[in-house]
Amino acid sequence: MRAAVIEEHGEPLAIEDVDAPEPDPHGVVVETEACGICRSDWHVWQGDWDWLGIDAGAGQILGHEPAGTVIAVGEGVEQVREGDHIAIPFSLGDGTCPECQSGHSNTCDNGIPLGFVEQAQGAFAEQVHVPFADFNAVQLPDGVTSVDMAGLGCRFMTSFHGLAHRADVGAGDWVAVHGCGGVGLSAVHIADALGANVVAVDLKDDKLRQAEELGAVETINAAETERVPKEIKGLTDGGAAVSVDALGVAETSRNSVLSLGNRGQHLQIGLTTEEERGSIAQPTDAMVMQEIEFLGSYGMPVSRYDEIFRMVATGKIDPSAVVSETVGLEAVSDKLAAMTDFETDGIPVVDSF
Ligand SMILES: [Zn+2]
Ligand SMILES: [Zn+2]
Repeated sequence: MRAAVIEEHGEPLAIEDVDAPEPDPHGVVVETEACGICRSDWHVWQGDWDWLGIDAGAGQILGHEPAGTVIAVGEGVEQVREGDHIAIPFSLGDGTCPECQSGHSNTCDNGIPLGFVEQAQGAFAEQVHVPFADFNAVQLPDGVTSVDMAGLGCRFMTSFHGLAHRADVGAGDWVAVHGCGGVGLSAVHIADALGANVVAVDLKDDKLRQAEELGAVETINAAETERVPKEIKGLTDGGAAVSVDALGVAETSRNSVLSLGNRGQHLQIGLTTEEERGSIAQPTDAMVMQEIEFLGSYGMPVSRYDEIFRMVATGKIDPSAVVSETVGLEAVSDKLAAMTDFETDGIPVVDSF
């Protein structure tokens, strides 16, 4: 099968003919129909996240936001059938540990990050293997296409889980979103759908325009001010109730914390870069004195996808609104390279392999 393969960190991916996967006893193989191209792919392509134990080198196939049709089923699989139209979460669970059993598959004790480790090759390929398929396969409802689902991939799901499950977003609350790439635009759209008033922050006007189209009522171009937190506090009469760092760099993370009013909640969605290597200093005294909460959000429990599908079915959320373009497998390298200078818009999706 054709696949886009890492040869060397930061160098163009090679389009190669590699062995197609076989289903293990509890796995299925999916013919990939769509897969989002994500900043997480960029991180691993760059060689980031060795401090998390991720070391995806030569031979790794990236791609962790896939949807497609099941074409082969392991002998121990009981519920997933050939021909099923499914999506696959990037944070795969084993289905049996206490975390998975209590509805937290995204923080599975034996979690496998799809596409980032050798044992779980990703979906920038004609076919992808899904381990523990009865637990991990998400059946797509009628009306959600594979490209829509790729648009709902890790960025959308992580934003949804963060805003709908981790933070307490109330009607009319001010929600600030720092960084308007795929995660940030998803967060803007979801916070708006949950009834919040959204302030979007980015360095680029075209990204801020997209944020407005997705529901932001105020925007701030961070290139034009030294004092993003102060501006947000002015716009929101004292500070946001919830503020999202959708990038994972020191400046946006700290700005997010400093944008909050008393008892505000900071939501960290992006993981950090080579610059921070997992640690960002925070304004701790302000967090103490203002009783600020720092919340993490990682993926989304597999058991809660239905909530998003109900909002898609009723038109409250439109995943296609954050899909910027569809491209072929050969274009993945160029899209990753463009992320180095933040030159991709929204969520590009591979739909031909
Ligand atoms: Zn588990
Ligand atoms: Zn992703």
